[in-house]
Amino acid sequence: ATPLALVRGGGIAANRGILMRSGDAFQIFRDVDTVVLDKTGTVTKGEPAVEEVVAVECAASDVIRRAAAAEAFSEHPLADAVLDCAAERGVEFPDPDEFDSVTGKGVRAGVGEERILVGKPEWVAEEGADTTAARGDIDRLRGRGYTVVCVAVNGSVVGLVAIGDPVKDDAAETVERMKRVGIAPVMITGDNQRTADAVAEAVGIDRVMADVLPDEKRDEIRRLQDDGERVAMVGDGINDAPALTQADIGIAIGAGTDIAIESADIVLMGDRLGGAVDAYEIGKSSYRKTK
Ligand code: ADP
Ligand code: MG
Repeated sequence: ATPLALVRGGGIAANRGILMRSGDAFQIFRDVDTVVLDKTGTVTKGEPAVEEVVAVECAASDVIRRAAAAEAFSEHPLADAVLDCAAERGVEFPDPDEFDSVTGKGVRAGVGEERILVGKPEWVAEEGADTTAARGDIDRLRGRGYTVVCVAVNGSVVGLVAIGDPVKDDAAETVERMKRVGIAPVMITGDNQRTADAVAEAVGIDRVMADVLPDEKRDEIRRLQDDGERVAMVGDGINDAPALTQADIGIAIGAGTDIAIESADIVLMGDRLGGAVDAYEIGKSSYRKTK
C-alpha cells in the first residue's frame, strides 16, 4: 500500500473523513462516469423502523409476535426493526424451535404448531400463501418508500409490517452534486421496484436496479462495465462486498460491515454521503495536470 502522505489529495481527504485504502484510488476515480449507490445504509440512514402494521383477522400484536419470534435469530437489519417494535409495544414472543433464513427473501421458522414465514410478499406467495387480498396495502405502503414484509402462518397471511428507513440528510444534495459534476447516479437494491422508485425519487435518482439478489449485485456492476462505463460503487453491507471489489472504485460506508470496508478502495467516515463526490473532486483537482 502507498503511504498516505505520498498520496496527492490525501490530506484534504482525511480532513473530510475520507480514508484511502488504495494509493491510486483518486487517480482512477476522476475517470468514473457512473456511481452505483446501494439503497439501504448508503442512500438511507440504515436505521429501519416499523411505521405501520396491517393485521388480517387478528390484532396487530399477533402479527408482531409472530414476526418477532421468526426473526429472533436473524441478523438482518429488518429483523432488528421488528424486534425493536415488539420491545416498544411490550409484545412478548417465544424463541423459534426451528429457524432458517433465505438470503434476499426472508425467514422461515417453526414455533410450536405454527410454521411462520416472514419476508418479501412475492417470496411468501411463492411459498404457497395467497397474498392477493393484501395487494392493495402492499402497493400503498411501497409507494411511500416502505419495505413491506409479509407475515404468514401455516400458509395464510396474517399481516404486513411496513418498515421505513429515512434517507440521509445530505442524500438529495449529493445526488445533485453528482449530476452536476457528470457522474451518473444509479441506485441498486434487493428491495422491490416500487419501494426503490419511491426512495430514488425522494433524492433525485432516475435510474434504479431493484429486486437484485445479493450475489447479483456484482453481475450488475460488470454489465455496466461491459457497456463501457467506468463504475464507482458505494455500499455498506456484506452483500455489497463482491460488487465493491468488481467496481473500478469501491467506496464503503465506514459504519458498514467489516467485509465491505475490506473490499473498498475508499472509506467514508461518519454519516455523510457527500464524501463520495468530495473524493471525485479531489481526484480531479489533484491529478488534472499529470494526464
Ligand atoms: P438490501 O439490498 O436492501 O440490503 P436484501 O438483499 O438484504 O436487501 O433483502 C432484500 C429483501 O428481502 C428485503 O427488502 C426484504 O423484503 C427481504 N428480506 C430479506 N431478509 C429478510 C428478513 N430477515 N426478514 C424480512 N424480510 C427479509
Ligand atoms: Mg445495504
